Parts: sequence; structure tokens; C-alpha cells
Amino acid sequence: MYDVAIIGGGVVGAAVAYELSHYSLHVALVEREEELSFGVSKANSGIVHPGTQNPPDSLKARLCVLGNRLIREMAGTLDLDFKEVGELIVAFNETEIAHLWQLKQEAEDCDVSGLEVVSRQWLRDNEPNLSPDAVAALLAPTAGIISPYRLVYALSGEAELNGVEVRTSTRVDSIICQEGSGFVLSTTHGEICTRYVVNCAGLYADVVSGMVGLDDLRISPRKGEEYILDKKRRYLTRHLLFPVPTPDSKGILVTRTSDGNPMIGPTAYEIEDKEDLSTTDEGLCQVLRVAQRLVPSIDPADIIAYFAGLRPTAGDDFVIRHEKKVPGFVNVAGIQSPGLTAAPAIGKYVAWLLECAGLGMRPKTQRHGRKQRAVHLLAMPLEDAKRVVREDPECAEIVCRCETVSLREVKQAIAVGATTLDGVKFRTRAGAGRCHGSFCTCRIMRILSEKTDRPITSISKRGKGSEIVVADRSDE
Ligand SMILES: Cc1cc2nc3c(=O)[nH]c(=O)nc-3n(C[C@H](O)[C@H](O)[C@H](O)COP(=O)(O)OP(=O)(O)OC[C@H]3O[C@@H](n4cnc5c(N)ncnc54)[C@H](O)[C@@H]3O)c2cc1C
Repeated sequence: MYDVAIIGGGVVGAAVAYELSHYSLHVALVEREEELSFGVSKANSGIVHPGTQNPPDSLKARLCVLGNRLIREMAGTLDLDFKEVGELIVAFNETEIAHLWQLKQEAEDCDVSGLEVVSRQWLRDNEPNLSPDAVAALLAPTAGIISPYRLVYALSGEAELNGVEVRTSTRVDSIICQEGSGFVLSTTHGEICTRYVVNCAGLYADVVSGMVGLDDLRISPRKGEEYILDKKRRYLTRHLLFPVPTPDSKGILVTRTSDGNPMIGPTAYEIEDKEDLSTTDEGLCQVLRVAQRLVPSIDPADIIAYFAGLRPTAGDDFVIRHEKKVPGFVNVAGIQSPGLTAAPAIGKYVAWLLECAGLGMRPKTQRHGRKQRAVHLLAMPLEDAKRVVREDPECAEIVCRCETVSLREVKQAIAVGATTLDGVKFRTRAGAGRCHGSFCTCRIMRILSEKTDRPITSISKRGKGSEIVVADRSDE
């Protein structure tokens, strides 16, 4: 019998698991995919929002500001690749300047600090590639960028080290509520008995909520297409650049990934199909038009990759509540943007809801932290990289040339749980460079096969159904 079963291993489920691992509780994190972070949390802009563009008095406004603060605090202890680069919301006319002052006031009312409306001259001096038509901007220095999946792995890794059981490839198919004595989850890997359930199932939170008889939740996917530019344009902008937002969206922006690639997008339009991750010509044209208005020198020929993500929306705000009709069941749904930023704050909020719902929360006196940090050659000063290479021959063996990922890094990623090519890529960047893995895929598959003791035919890109090799004829 678990105390708490968390359904869904995206950033929200991982943050709830991380928070609950601070208490003497028996917790399971249950994820249907082969690895964590294979849902919405793998496909987003990776921005740690400062809290400038949320409706005042909304839950997401409060949790975004706290989440931003928590991520900055955790960055050192969890070894997060967070970079505080600051954002500019750019105005092109007097009406938009008036909007900037309104955004500033609303954000300050939510406790966002350091905001400043900067002039045309300031923009010329500090953001040289920005359009000369820009007349002013709202500067929010606490905005940052982070690798979304590495945040999930850092949170879930710490949770696991502190006793949370992570059960992947385990889809919850139905839930029986046993009056007064908890829940039985029927899964693809047997039954799970638990006193409390936290539903963090992202796009499928409405389906999971329906399993306990609640039918008042509907998740609508809102698609966002994003386009990644070559690293040779890494100095395109210094800050994250946003247009003035609309009621539906923060707008199409110019950002960069924590690995240094500029990125433009996302679009925002409603669709029906929760599995539709296609990108479109119209999306590309729209993204280019808006991004080039901000930075005219963006060239379509610089685009090296693209993807789409689906925001799981349930109205305008997050829906996070203990369901009184089903005591012990907490819904964490509609976690659209800024869900990545807010996740650590959502973890704390859910812990508080569980305590209010009667779960005894005894803080642990001792916590374990990961001793071995990942060795990213590309992120190190040259002298340190030379020393590491001298000390460990596996660091000298480069598996992914585009991103300079060594054999040591790939093995480390597998040691902490990667079982697929995407799992290795998300943790190390191997395969994420300009050649899209043409050079390193076979090598990584062989390493995965050897280290996880599975035949090469079972090694997949992102889990069952995405295997690459159909037959192994190496012995013939
Ligand atoms: C294009 C785009 C850009 C964005 N940009 C930003 C940004 O820059 N900053 C920001 O703060 N936020 C951003 N967001 C929002 C952010 O990505 C989401 O809020 C966040 O990732 C949601 O995380 P989640 O854990 O709720 O969902 P998910 O990551 O989808 O996790 C839910 C998990 O539940 C699992 N699951 C579902 N059903 C079951 C079941 N029956 N049994 C077991 N497991 C199940 C799924 O497989 C999935 O892994 C963006 C979103 C999009 C789409």
C-alpha cells in the first residue's frame, strides 16, 4: 500500500514526487511511457518565465512567480542548466507602450521584481539585432532558460534517491475507489494500492479524472509549433524577445535553448487530436513572419529542426484541487504555460492540499543528494575539459561529434535511467546536433544494447513501436 500514487511522469508529476520525497511517505510515480518526460514536458520553449504575462489573481500567476524563485534556488543544488538571461516584451507603437506599463503594474502586483520599461536607445545598445522599428520594451531580468527534460530528470532523480518508486511503461487503465480505504489502480503492470492519488496526466488528466467518476474536466490541446535554428546563430539575441501578448498567448517569440540554439515559436491554435504533433507550412510562415518582425535578420535557411507540443488546457487557469466528491483524489490539470516554470511551486501546493486532505506529513530528517555530476565536455572551460580527458579515456572518446558528447556521458545517462535514444539525447544532447544523429545513432544503440543487456532489435527511439533495427544478422 502506497501513501500516494502520482499518475504522470512529466515535469508536474516529477515536481510533486520531489516535494513528497521530503516527507516520510511511501510514494509511487507512475508513467505510461518507457521514460519520464516523454509527454508535453519534452516539447516546449524551455523558458522559466518571470511572471509578467499571466492574468492577475490567477493561480498560474501566483505559482509562476514562486516557481521562478524556486528554480533559481534549486539551480545549484540540483545542478540544473538554468541560465538567467532576462526577457524583453517589445513594443512597436504608443498603444503597445501603454500596454507595457499595464503589464508592469500587474506583474509588480504579483511580486515580480526588477521590472523596467527601457527606451529605444537602450534597445539599440543592448539588443543590436532587434528591429529598428522597436520603440520600447519591458525588461524582466529574472526570466531564464532551462532544459525542460533535464529539469524532469533532476527532480525525479532526487525523488528516487529519497525513496520514491518510479514505475515507467505502466499505464493506469482504471481506478477503483474503496470507500474509506483508498484506491486500487489497475495498470498494464498489475495493481497498485494507494491511500491518495495525484492526477498529473497532462493531456489525459480528463481521462484519468473520469476513471473515478468525475466528468467535469475537459482537456483541449492547444498546439504550439517551434523551429530551432543552427548554433552558428547563437549570438542572434542576448535576451528572450516577446511581442506584446494577446489574451490567448504570450505570442511568437525569439528565444534560445539552454544548449545555445536560437528557437522561434510557438504558434497557438486549438486542435482535437491529443496525439497530433505535426508541424505545418502555415505554422512555419506565421512563426517566421512574427519572429522576423522582432529580428529581421532571421533566415529560414538557419532552421535545422522543428517540433510541435500540445498545451493541455482546461479553461484559462490551472485546475489544482482536492476533489471533495472523491476524498483522497487530487486533480492537477490544465497545466498549460507557464507549467514548466510553475512545476516546483505546484509540487508544494499539492503537498499542502494533501495535508489538508488528511495525509500525515512528517518531514524526513535526512536527505540524499546525487554525488556524481554529469560531465558535459562542451559546457566546460577548455582547461577543465583537457584535464577530464587526461584522467578518463572514456571522456576522450567522442560519440556525438556535433555536440561533443563523450562515451562517458552516454554511459552516465544510461546509468541514471536512459533506455531509449531520446532518453540519451535529452540527457546528453547526443543526436541533437546538425546531423540529427546520422553519425552517432548506431553507436549509441550498441552502447544501449550492451549496457541494458537487451538485443539491438529492442532498442527504440522513444519506446515500443519506434524500434529501428528489425533483425540482427551480425552472427550470420
Ligand atoms: C509549445 C509549448 C511551449 C511551452 N513553453 C513553455 C515555457 O517556455 N515555459 C513554461 O513554463 N511552460 C511552457 N509550456 C507549458 C509546459 O510545457 C507544460 O505546462 C508542462 O510541460 C506540463 O507538464 P505535465 O507534467 O502536466 O504534462 P506531461 O509532461 O504531458 O506529463 C503527463 C504525463 O502523464 C502520462 N500519462 C498520461 N496518461 C497516463 C496514464 N493513464 N497512466 C500513466 N501515465 C499517464 C503521460 O505519458 C505524460 O508523460 C509550453 C507548452 C507547449 C506545448
